[in-house]
Amino acid sequence: METELPRTEDEWRVRLSPAEYRVLRQAGTEAPWSGEYVATRTEGTYRCRACDAELFSSDTKFDSHCGWPSFDDALPGAVTVLEDRTMGMVRTEIRCARCNSHLGHVFEGEGFTPKNVRHCVNSISIRLAPSEEQ
Ligand SMILES: [Zn+2]
Repeated sequence: METELPRTEDEWRVRLSPAEYRVLRQAGTEAPWSGEYVATRTEGTYRCRACDAELFSSDTKFDSHCGWPSFDDALPGAVTVLEDRTMGMVRTEIRCARCNSHLGHVFEGEGFTPKNVRHCVNSISIRLAPSEEQ
């Protein structure tokens, strides 16, 4: 059962913790190596912490040594991308396709995996639903 989405930022503030709100709704970034899923190997599906939509499979998670959970693919249609020109560089931001909350950035051409893509995601933007609970 998918829950109804908040319609205003005030409603998001009520639903999310201040730290979650800062990343998900204000495109903040958690400190590297601080997130709970950096080194997680548990099998399952990572869902959006804001709206519970399924975003990433643990099958695509890999160890990038960058300090954030990294995935070389997203579930089909789960994320949207847009150009981010903040911080003095051009990056590609990824957001949840369902609720438009900020997840992280996507980088290409680094050669980590055969797909050559790294979805660099804040742990606080996602929540792991382990396979055995599904
Ligand atoms: Zn979402």
